[in-house]
Amino acid sequence: MLAYTYVEKGRFELREKPLPVLKDARDAIVRVTLSSICTSDLHIKHGSVPRAVPGITVGHEMVGVVEQAGAGVHSVRPGDRVAVNVETFCGECFFCRHGYVNNCTSPEGGWALGCRIDGGQAEYVRVPLADQGLSRIPETVTDEQALFVGDILATGFWAARISDITPEDTVLIIGAGPTGICTLLCAMLKQPERIIVCEKSSARRRFVQMHYPRVEVVAPEECPDYVLRHSRHGGADVVLEVAGAEDTFRLAWTCARPNAIVTVVALYDRPQVLPLPEMYGKNLTFKTGGVDGCDCDEILRLIAAGKIDTTPLITHRFPLEQIGEAYRIFENRLEHVIKVAVEGPRV
Ligand SMILES: [Zn+2]
Ligand SMILES: [Zn+2]
Repeated sequence: MLAYTYVEKGRFELREKPLPVLKDARDAIVRVTLSSICTSDLHIKHGSVPRAVPGITVGHEMVGVVEQAGAGVHSVRPGDRVAVNVETFCGECFFCRHGYVNNCTSPEGGWALGCRIDGGQAEYVRVPLADQGLSRIPETVTDEQALFVGDILATGFWAARISDITPEDTVLIIGAGPTGICTLLCAMLKQPERIIVCEKSSARRRFVQMHYPRVEVVAPEECPDYVLRHSRHGGADVVLEVAGAEDTFRLAWTCARPNAIVTVVALYDRPQVLPLPEMYGKNLTFKTGGVDGCDCDEILRLIAAGKIDTTPLITHRFPLEQIGEAYRIFENRLEHVIKVAVEGPRV
């Protein structure tokens, strides 16, 4: 089968590999019908994910059809359409039982697919701990609608959940990339009084304005002043920082009102400064972390009910054979790309 492979720093290649096989009773083999490219894939390509294993197939955002399930798999059967979770988790350890699946202590746990083990930019993928790692897609939900459920949409859902958004709130979301928009969609479910999106790229600001006309959009340089003028208590009640750029952490807490929640979803290249003397008395609550991707069934229900739609994010489509071109477009942000969908071979 064809598999997009991390050869060495700076080089991914579409290679021929043997079909994956079940290694454990809790594994499932999924035929990938649709996959996507995430910024984390680019981090692997650029050598900034030290735990990524050369030779592995990349890709951790995908949907498909269960081809084979081990004897210990109970939640899905061959023939089921499924969304694959970016995180592998056991469902049994202390952290899993408390919903902190990102911190699963199983040796297989964490971000394994497309990083430490073969992922889904391929025709088939082996999913370990499949009862937790796969969610059945409702009949009325298409593959494109479900494509982001296991990764960026799970991230947005988790970020909105831990931010405790109320109907009286002014919510500021910094960054309108794919994860920022997923975060926006999930924040909208909480129906806060006002949502302001801060984004540097004018094309992405236009995208938000076009698709979500009730959301207010600002550029970073006008953001602090705009938020101050459009919030009741001297700043945003909740800030979600999804950009991860040079100055966006500072922007996030300066735009927050006293006693606000500042949720940091972004993954930074460098350490950030927490100038405690400057923020003394502001009494902020910071929430950070990697996604706890354990709400995929609920997200799929919301999609089926028409409450979340991420399909406008798919701006480009390529067959698996042309995944190199898909990467070129995505990596260089050509043609106003937001997300690409990579189609597996038809059977
Ligand atoms: Zn990702
Ligand atoms: Zn666990």
